Parts: sequence; C-alpha cells; structure tokens
Amino acid sequence: PKVPVRKPEWLKARAPGGETFHALKKMARDLNLHTVCESAHCPNIGECWNQKAATFMMLGNLCTRRCGFCAVPKGKPEPIDHDEPRRVAYAVAQLGLAHAVITSVNRDDDNLGAAQAFVEVIEQIRLQSAGTRIEVLTPDFQGNEQSLRMVVAAKPEILNHNIETVPRLYRIAKSGGKYPRSLRFLEQAKEIAAETGITQVTKTGIIVGMGEEMHELLAVFRDLADRKVDILTIGQYLRPSKDHLVMSRFYTPEEFAFLKQEALAMGFRHVESGPLVRSSYHAQEQAESTGLA
Ligand code: SF4
Ligand code: SF4
Repeated sequence: PKVPVRKPEWLKARAPGGETFHALKKMARDLNLHTVCESAHCPNIGECWNQKAATFMMLGNLCTRRCGFCAVPKGKPEPIDHDEPRRVAYAVAQLGLAHAVITSVNRDDDNLGAAQAFVEVIEQIRLQSAGTRIEVLTPDFQGNEQSLRMVVAAKPEILNHNIETVPRLYRIAKSGGKYPRSLRFLEQAKEIAAETGITQVTKTGIIVGMGEEMHELLAVFRDLADRKVDILTIGQYLRPSKDHLVMSRFYTPEEFAFLKQEALAMGFRHVESGPLVRSSYHAQEQAESTGLA
C-alpha cells in the first residue's frame, strides 16, 4: 500500500518550548527521571508540559521488549533503582499534580520487582502529595498474577494497561505481548479488587494506523467492553523513525469521532479519541469525566 508521508493539518501540535517546559525538563534531569513524553517522542509534549502534565517512566530508559511502533530505547536494562519511586513522588509533589500518571518500561527480567516499584510509587505519592489522584500505566508483568495483585492492593485510582493494537498485529507491533493475556489482565484487575469489596477503575489504549481494519478495531472494543474496562483512549500512530513499523494510513477526525461513538455505545464510561490522543493525554479530564472526583 501507498505510505502517506505528509502530516495532515489535524496533527499539528504545539512546538516544545517555554519557561514551564524547560523547568520541567531540568527537574527531570536533576532527579535522574525519565518521562515517556520524551522517550516515546510524544507529539503533545509542548502542550502537556506547559500545563505541567508529564508522565514519568520508571525502571530505566531501556525496555526489554521491542514493540514495532515504540520509540523507547530497547536493550538490557540496568538493575532496578529502588530510590526512583521516592524521586518520582517528589517530582509529582513539586509539580503539584492533581492527577499523576506513572508508567514504566517492561521488565521481563523481574516482574515482581517491577510491580514493587509501582506499589512504592503509589505509597510515596500518597505520602508526599496527599490528594493526588494516581493512575498507573503498567506492563502485563507477563501475566504474573502476584504482580497484578500487588499493584491492585496498593489501590491506584486508575489501573491502565494498553491493549495497543488488534490481535492480528501483535506479532509485528507488540511482540512479546499476547492479546488474550492483556485482556485477561484488565479483567483480572477488577476481579482481584472485588475480592476485597473495591471497584478498580480500569483503562486501556489503542493506536490506529498500523494496518488494522475497522471491523478488527470494533471487535477489540467489544472484547474490552465485555471486560468492563472503564476508559478507552484511541490515537493515531506516528512512525518514530524509518526503523519502526510502517504507518498504514491517517485516520480522519471524523473516523475518530465514529470510533468514539461506537465505543461509547458499547458501554465505556469515557472514550478519548482523536489524532493526537495518547494514553496519558488529558488524563485528568478523562478521570473527571468518568466520575472520579
Ligand atoms: Fe506526555 Fe502523555 Fe502528554 Fe504525551 S500525551 S506529552 S506522553 S503526558
Ligand atoms: Fe515501548 Fe513496548 Fe517497551 Fe512499552 S513494552 S516501552 S510500548 S517497547
């Protein structure tokens, strides 16, 4: 298929820069923290960072997986830095975030250690920034139930795990991931929380423009809705470099609106759908419109 090259008008984002942007960048450097905003080359960094909305990425800047769409550097990770959760929480407190999104690279070398880092960051944010709503965007921990139990027990307000793409494309786009395992992860999070009478709000995201068909997307929405996932984000794939997966096409704003309507009709409580939507884009507004105070 013909590969689109020129970015359409609707993908123009605010250029990075400004006082707040640079202050945030400096803080992340000084605290030796990584952000997915930078590591994944997110197009929204100019807008988000000027509103002090940054998504910190724990457990190093090297991922053990090699997703075809993702710009995060790949390789053998460093040992886990056990002080990192404290520094992330400090940054959250300094920024005065009402809603913090914390993510990590995959650590297939240590799924329990990775889960423990999420537990600690939740505890540290509660300690240093009481009142901040916490959203964790976690890996699948290779389906390790104990890891998921640890994270759910720490009671993040939102547990986010991205489904990323349709099952047919997992092999090329999300190698190392398994579609049924990610679905089960989202389902099981609610089941585990329910054992102690808690409702776990769940969230997931999908990237379009990697070669999927519309009917495949709608089938994924159905699978997610059947597992009572609360929040769904849908955004356009932008190829980070020539070494990454080829983009199949740009979806139009009308198509994003259509996908949103379809998903809402299936029962999601909130759907954020648009060309520049990312998992953590307007995360605070997403949570608020879901009824989380
Ligand atoms: Fe960072 Fe998310 Fe905003 Fe992108 S959308 S700049 S990853 S907070
Ligand atoms: Fe990127 Fe995939 Fe690693 Fe996540 S698991 S950081 S999407 S390579």
